[in-house]
Amino acid sequence: MGCSFACAYCYASFMGRFCGESIESWGRYLSVKVNAVEVFRRDLGRLSAKRRDATILLSSVTDAWQGPEKKYRLTRGVLETLREDRYPGTVAMLTKSPLVLRDLDVIAALARKEVGVTITATDDAIGRFLEVQAPSAADRLRTLAELNAAGIPTYAFVGPLLPHYRHRRDLLDELFRRIRDTGTRALFVEHLNTSPHIQQRLQPLLARTEPEVRAVYRTARQADHRRALSGMVMDLVGKYGFEIRLGGVIDHQADRNRAAAP
Ligand code: SF4
Repeated sequence: MGCSFACAYCYASFMGRFCGESIESWGRYLSVKVNAVEVFRRDLGRLSAKRRDATILLSSVTDAWQGPEKKYRLTRGVLETLREDRYPGTVAMLTKSPLVLRDLDVIAALARKEVGVTITATDDAIGRFLEVQAPSAADRLRTLAELNAAGIPTYAFVGPLLPHYRHRRDLLDELFRRIRDTGTRALFVEHLNTSPHIQQRLQPLLARTEPEVRAVYRTARQADHRRALSGMVMDLVGKYGFEIRLGGVIDHQADRNRAAAP
């Protein structure tokens, strides 16, 4: 519970409600589920035959390869359990950490697998500002390249799609080019999620930036900004020959607006 990478835009900060932590303290606490492998083994054994092709995702509300995993080896234990079980469904993994490479031997032995690496910018100054304690962009690109060299199916997760790219197409082009150069051919791309609980952590950080930066983030909520940025993404998807998953740029705000419409 928690994530020591502490990204300012993390949607999972709401998880604190399950352990008495505030939205603001996300990134400053970590509760390790030390019996996770034991519990997972038991739950997997109870899975009915017809559900054994379900996709299992590691992980959507924390990073399964953050620093303490070196010591606790829980993620590795879960993957070893899946390998021993000969689990036939897809094991989907998403991380920002090169520590995933430690487990290449187990991942390679899984029947169906895919590893995604989140990468939002090639500029580490931006990365350090928003992804406060996460591994550098260079480390993540190297991780994708090594996964590809080992024959593991991969994708890059470009999310959140940072708002400044609308004014710096060259930087978005560089990001896509460098992902393509790792050998990765599939992408998920997601607009900045503007949910209130995310704004609660993001706004105090933005308040300490230049007015121009704040102005760009303000426009990130606007439909024309999102349309323009989506158009740039689709042009670059074509230019570099990527497969874009879910058919386009994921936009939770547009989905919420549609759901709220009378
Ligand atoms: S690595 Fe993922 S789960 Fe962890 S803080 Fe960043 S966005 Fe949240």
